Amino acid sequence: MRILIAEDDIITRRLLAAQLKNWGHELVVCSDGQQAWEQINRTGSPKLVVLDWMMPGMDGLTLSREIRKLETKPYTYIILLTARSSKEDIVDGMEAGADDYIIKPFEPQELRVRIRAATRIVQLQEDLLKALEKSEFQASHDALTGLWNRYAILGILHRELARGFREMNPVSVIMADIDHFKKINDTYGHLTGDEVLRQTANRLTHLLRPYDAVGRYGGEEFLLVLPSCSTQEALNVAERLRGSFQENPINNVEGSFNVSLSFGVVMVRGKDSQDADAIIGLADEALYKAKNLGRNRVEFGGELLS
Ligand code: GH3
Ligand code: MG
Ligand code: MG
Ligand code: MG
Repeated sequence: MRILIAEDDIITRRLLAAQLKNWGHELVVCSDGQQAWEQINRTGSPKLVVLDWMMPGMDGLTLSREIRKLETKPYTYIILLTARSSKEDIVDGMEAGADDYIIKPFEPQELRVRIRAATRIVQLQEDLLKALEKSEFQASHDALTGLWNRYAILGILHRELARGFREMNPVSVIMADIDHFKKINDTYGHLTGDEVLRQTANRLTHLLRPYDAVGRYGGEEFLLVLPSCSTQEALNVAERLRGSFQENPINNVEGSFNVSLSFGVVMVRGKDSQDADAIIGLADEALYKAKNLGRNRVEFGGELLS
């Protein structure tokens, strides 16, 4: 584990470093509190720190208090190293935010078990955070395409409508649907259909601006939210997407697939998130108009203005 040690006394510092290295830890060594504070503020700094109490610049107690104010994730585990051994001192140290303490001069065995307990906690934290990140991703993303799922893209639409309302910026919404997708499934099977869906999603994402959002609204239907995008820009975007599919087939191991999409475009200005359903309704209507007019086309559903 990566451990930061801050100790001004050279002998104790060397002893500590030698022990920890011996047990296989990677070290960031600091000789005063100020240096330690700078290290702690770097991204990816060690999550286990051993701080001497008495140090020039910034003592271990102050450092502990400052670290706690950072509220970093994962949590930084603090072991205070102190020559003070009275109950009051220990209480002060723990009150300042330390998790544990070691009284100097320390016994290597004691240091070892305390470091071991600390690494267990830090590791547990990291594992929990990873699991949480993973489940948050799964809750907001579609497993097949990796796009935002329906719930998440609707959340983004609400957020962007609220932001657009506040900042008086337009928001455009595009509903896109693959044409005759059922045929691909019926002709080549569901797995090929899945692959075509994945690649369609991929292409949509790559053709949009980084701050545009695309989600899988339903089976082969996609909802695109384009912040600060006027009617003409949104129509251009939809036309560009349509053209890309028309000109470049989707290629995969099964062969080459000519896929086309139909698009319904709506522009909103000065409407808050409570109008989200109405906006989606309009985009849907425009999409169905595109289908009825022969597919592989873009239809405009109008502007919704306050
Ligand atoms: P249209 O041009 O009118 O949109 O015709 P379509 O065939 O694309 O539309 P329809 O709604 O009739 O069929 C959609 C098909 O999409 C039916 C469904 O089986 C398929 N589908 C939905 N989700 C998935 C999926 O996750 N994987 C695969 N392979 N197919 C899916
Ligand atoms: Mg000291
Ligand atoms: Mg379809
Ligand atoms: Mg559909």
